[in-house]
Amino acid sequence: MNPTATLHVDAPVRTSVDVAVVGSGPSGLSAAISAARRGARTLVIERFGYVGGNLTAGLVGPCMTSYSLDGSTQLIKGVFEELVLRMEEQGQAIHPSKVPANSPYCGYITYGHDKVTPFEPEAVKLTGLDMLREAGVEILFHTSVIAPRTEGERVTGLFVASKSGIEAIDASVVIDCSADADVVAGAGGETVYGRNEDGLAQPMTLFFRIAGVDDAAVDKYVTEAQEFRPFASIVEKARQSGEFTIPRKGIGLYKTLRPGVWRINTTRILGVSGVDVADLTKAEIEGREQVQQLVDFLRRRIPGFSDATLLDTASTIGVRETRRIVGDYTLTLKDLETGRHFEDVIGTCGYPVDIHSPVDEGGRLEDDETANVYEMPYRMLVPRDLDGVLVAGRCVSASHEALAAIRVMPPSFAMGQAAGTAAALAVAAGVQPRSVDVATLQHQLLEDGAYLGPEMVPETVG
Ligand SMILES: Cc1cc2nc3c(=O)[nH]c(=O)nc-3n(C[C@H](O)[C@H](O)[C@H](O)COP(=O)(O)OP(=O)(O)OC[C@H]3O[C@@H](n4cnc5c(N)ncnc54)[C@H](O)[C@@H]3O)c2cc1C
Repeated sequence: MNPTATLHVDAPVRTSVDVAVVGSGPSGLSAAISAARRGARTLVIERFGYVGGNLTAGLVGPCMTSYSLDGSTQLIKGVFEELVLRMEEQGQAIHPSKVPANSPYCGYITYGHDKVTPFEPEAVKLTGLDMLREAGVEILFHTSVIAPRTEGERVTGLFVASKSGIEAIDASVVIDCSADADVVAGAGGETVYGRNEDGLAQPMTLFFRIAGVDDAAVDKYVTEAQEFRPFASIVEKARQSGEFTIPRKGIGLYKTLRPGVWRINTTRILGVSGVDVADLTKAEIEGREQVQQLVDFLRRRIPGFSDATLLDTASTIGVRETRRIVGDYTLTLKDLETGRHFEDVIGTCGYPVDIHSPVDEGGRLEDDETANVYEMPYRMLVPRDLDGVLVAGRCVSASHEALAAIRVMPPSFAMGQAAGTAAALAVAAGVQPRSVDVATLQHQLLEDGAYLGPEMVPETVG
């Protein structure tokens, strides 16, 4: 969406709802379920034909840790926990409590990778959909939000485009879970992009899965080699000989629930913007070329992969970072390092800052000493200069560094749950989202299974 273009169109109103959620990734799924459960007439709009965002279309996984950095306390529960438990019951996920750091499920990484959640993407499509429908959420698939409807500084709904043409949707509150702040940018709300020094954002990655891997052989090699990143020395040697040209150190590989099937998080496309369609096209093409190179390389050089075959590639390039809104509060690296307490805490997290270098094969995972537990405030979901709209997920108000920690899927669920609950509260009270009673919001989140810190229990809040 080009935020500078204004849409002047006489579109028929398709429907009027209390809460319209844009996108059904981790944040949108959780927001829609939570708003509907709290009594709001809720619609979720998704450009693909299924729910999940990066959980499904992006083939991204596992869900990074939902625990404190030391792995001792589960911090993200609520809708996330429900989804995981339902998938685990079907044999389609493993609860994070059973997945230790440095295991094949977490890519043999220790720091920040204790208690991840392996899951099957198809299970999210089904169980996520079930949870939406059970909550009474109306669903519009194959529909892209192309612009917000506004009255002055207030978002009043959306324009959407689909095979049915261009239509309008009225909503008392819109929750922008597009990951790119499409609604906020389209409404003229302030957004920022990339890191401070040069405006560059994290690179993109096309995920793929590979089948026919000898799991025991991989395990044996990685365990004996004890490298910082699996297969780093083989990759480095190949880079020097010109055989490996992808800007990445080692192979990011994550075992799945299926024997012999691994997710590969190793392609890297630098210097592209997720809000520029020419760049997105370029990234899809370059990503696919890199997948081909990697599959050949894995089969030729990596122990355990000699008989492996490509199972599938993601339906969409994975975009780590684009626009972030400027909210009533902007979460900073210092907040994460000090574990700052916020009176309006709506979620807690322990995942560290995880930055993939925008310019080369480097990365930043262990450089910043984030607190064992840090907090996320409600104000970072509220665009500073707009009414009628909340934001959750990858485009909330956070610095480049802070976003690099809270962007992962469990905290996106937590933010979504808070935004959905707050939107329903705003509708019920007839107030703007920024004016909801925070104590009531926190009380409802706790009642609905969220964890906001050791002191925050329903009896003492709200
Ligand atoms: C390459 C890569 C690797 C990652 N690795 C991990 C990992 O291992 N573990 C982890 O937990 N996290 C990981 N992440 C981070 C995580 O996947 C995302 O940050 C997270 O999914 C953000 O959730 P979201 O709901 O904000 O956005 P998304 O998951 O991106 O969902 C956005 C949804 O909105 C829809 N949408 C967007 N715009 C519109 C529109 N205009 N109209 C209609 N629908 C729209 C999209 O189709 C999509 O379904 C990774 C991300 C990437 C890109």
